[in-house]
Amino acid sequence: MASIDERLERYRESTGTYLLKDDDFKAEIKRDMEAVMAGIGARLDSIEEAILNPPVVSDSSDSDSDLDDSEESNDPDPQGTKKFKHLWVLCENETCESLNYKSLLKERLNICEFCGYHLKMSSSDRIELSIDPDTWHPMDEDLFALDPIEWHSKKHPYKDRIASDQRETGLTEAIQTGRGKLNGIPVAIGVMDFRFVGGSMGSVVGEKITRLIEYATHRLLPLIIVCASGGARMQEGSLSLMQMAKISSALYEYQSNKKLFYVSILASPTTGGVLASFGMLGDIIIAEPNAYIAFAGKRVIEQTLNIILPEGSQETENLFEKGLFDLIVPRKPLKSVLSELLKFHAFFPWNEKRPLLLPLNATLEHTKCN
Ligand SMILES: [Zn+2]
Repeated sequence: MASIDERLERYRESTGTYLLKDDDFKAEIKRDMEAVMAGIGARLDSIEEAILNPPVVSDSSDSDSDLDDSEESNDPDPQGTKKFKHLWVLCENETCESLNYKSLLKERLNICEFCGYHLKMSSSDRIELSIDPDTWHPMDEDLFALDPIEWHSKKHPYKDRIASDQRETGLTEAIQTGRGKLNGIPVAIGVMDFRFVGGSMGSVVGEKITRLIEYATHRLLPLIIVCASGGARMQEGSLSLMQMAKISSALYEYQSNKKLFYVSILASPTTGGVLASFGMLGDIIIAEPNAYIAFAGKRVIEQTLNIILPEGSQETENLFEKGLFDLIVPRKPLKSVLSELLKFHAFFPWNEKRPLLLPLNATLEHTKCN
């Protein structure tokens, strides 16, 4: 059997992923692989043990009497497998629930290797997926939320929630906005992040999106917004709802007056005020496969109307049948689809050496003056 070093080397040759010069990284991967092997070993041991000594099925009638014993013997984690929990990501598909190895998941664009389900993705990974390397310029990173209505919650004070989510995600708010190039075409892009207070839209998210739209309007840039949000942010009350009107009026100037091109991408989940404003206002609306897209959640509808919603009725594929959006695009071809759409709408790669707005005779005039 090949040693871990040999396997690492082989893996590096086939994928070019691990830089063996980086000793720390190599040691980390080695530790991960050893832990995986230990986990598999422990699992095999427990299976072997279970085959050799099948558990005695106790009679249901005396289950109450030996409750204490059964709690001791049914240790949920006898092999200490929880120790390796951080290495794996559970598939969000309820019919799959397979474990994906975390280190390889990013390379697979957070798509489950067993069933092809599109798992949630961080905003930074999405930017890396769509924007050319070294062309990303973030905007308004210094804006952060205050507590405008002094939201009263003993369990989760709003300010603490913001601070802890900032620490965990490394973001200042639930959206990253900026400019970058998509296959060489300059674009203004905003990407929401569900990990930050459920991707909810408060006044900072609304302000960042509005500024992004105004920037794109002045620079005549195409606009892309990736939505992944639980809706308006309840901790900011009606100030969150006002963002819907603010963003929509900025989009009216961008789309109707300037005749520019806006693509909205609906990732899982896109709900509430986000769907009801800029999510549905795209000139082209793209949805990710198996995304949860809804205005009101399943439970709210069922409790209000006293009906049972059919399974999957608020998912991409069913909504596409009803004509809610234009395209379902999986993550792998997303960048090339976007670039085709932009070219189709007369946005082309930008050549910095030859500025587009300066015709040849203008350059001659300029040199003559000097
Ligand atoms: Zn799966």
